Amino acid sequence: MPKGQIRELVEICYQIAKEKGWWDRRRNDAELIALMHSELSEALEVLRQRRSRQELAEELADCCIRIFDYCGRKRIDLEEAIVKKIEKNRRRPYRHGHKRY
Ligand SMILES: [Mg+2]
Repeated sequence: MPKGQIRELVEICYQIAKEKGWWDRRRNDAELIALMHSELSEALEVLRQRRSRQELAEELADCCIRIFDYCGRKRIDLEEAIVKKIEKNRRRPYRHGHKRY
């Protein structure tokens, strides 16, 4: 993956959220994390209702957008964290030591 693409998405999502007024008032971290969860719950509902893959993708995208926005606001280097975590996972044993899930 070309370097900088996730950083760019983080910045775009944060800028759009600011322009749309989502950062005009103080927001607490727990609320923002809950809203990330809510998008995954919406994705689960798409599956339970046997709706389309396009709708599933949209809910997953919503979750990513909320995470990107949050990282933009908090100046979290999500790209670096993802790259590091992928490398860590690559070095882990098969099924991370035979975990079931
Ligand atoms: Mg949604």
